[in-house]
Amino acid sequence: MYPATFEYHRPTTVDEAVRLLATHKDDAKLLAGGHSLIPLMKLRLTTPKHVVDLRRITGLAGVREEGGAIVIGALTTHYAIESNASLKSKCPMLPEAGAMIGDPQVRNWGTIGGSLAHADPAADWPAVVLALGAELKATGPKGPRTIKADDFFKDLLTTVLGPDEVLTEIRIPAPAAGTGMAYVKHPHPASRFAVVGVAAVLTASGGKCEKASVAITGVGPKAARAKGVEAALTGKALDAQTIAAAAEKAADGIAMTADLQGSVEYKQHLTRVYARRALEAAAARAKGGK
Ligand SMILES: Cc1cc2nc3c(=O)[nH]c(=O)nc-3n(C[C@H](O)[C@H](O)[C@H](O)COP(=O)(O)OP(=O)(O)OC[C@H]3O[C@@H](n4cnc5c(N)ncnc54)[C@H](O)[C@@H]3O)c2cc1C
Repeated sequence: MYPATFEYHRPTTVDEAVRLLATHKDDAKLLAGGHSLIPLMKLRLTTPKHVVDLRRITGLAGVREEGGAIVIGALTTHYAIESNASLKSKCPMLPEAGAMIGDPQVRNWGTIGGSLAHADPAADWPAVVLALGAELKATGPKGPRTIKADDFFKDLLTTVLGPDEVLTEIRIPAPAAGTGMAYVKHPHPASRFAVVGVAAVLTASGGKCEKASVAITGVGPKAARAKGVEAALTGKALDAQTIAAAAEKAADGIAMTADLQGSVEYKQHLTRVYARRALEAAAARAKGGK
């Protein structure tokens, strides 16, 4: 099916994109990799009259380090993250998660910013940015603002971004020494979207877990932190028994919905299993200093 007719805009600056959004309001949609927007337009589930293509704006793609943080441009593709050598050593969960998204075509077109702004409940990046304690930078008519990942996702396909705001970058604090991290997922066999995905970031010091940050995606309307797991690990030795007990709390307090992927009971079970795998991998890397 073809999308409905629309006017195509190619701004070269973020300010110009913001002006177009402010002018055309609800009739406008930003285009990044197009791997969520274009299928929706073809199905006529969304029919924007104005499509604002971000890909001519320079400076929105790429990975850099700045003031002790890793900064990823919103237009950076999943593949660019997956293949970034510096991220592989400094924040390995990012390339690990990027490599698990969809197929090579999706990874070469889709962008981290598009994924976060779209907030698909089965997307991988939302859990990763929550567990890494990221901050997201957006620019609107009033200028730039910074939003904590914890405050960014509101509901199914809904974030706190205004209709006239452009997400420009994702800022991740450099992981502390002794931090291990892992992302694991149970992928849908056709799309590879997460039926459940678990991101775990553990910082070990003196044989104990100093800080635990764990987030779950895929099972409910939006990705969320697994606070029960974090509390069960903090201050404890990262041994097999503690990890197994903490993983049992992974489904606690997480909103889950029964759907074609499975019942709530099935998703709760899957969440606990994958939480244990993510925690075991993150703990091993924390101890090994990766
Ligand atoms: C077959 C298939 C398999 C997939 N498998 C997976 C998977 O396993 N895991 C996964 O996480 N995802 C998966 N995806 C989704 C894919 O990762 C998309 O690329 C992603 O969700 C959207 O990114 P995009 O750059 O393509 O955004 P677009 O489709 O261009 O845009 C998506 C939405 O975000 C808005 N938007 C885009 N950029 C910005 C911005 N900078 N600021 C504000 N709003 C913006 C757009 O207006 C639109 O509403 C899959 C997609 C397909 C088609």
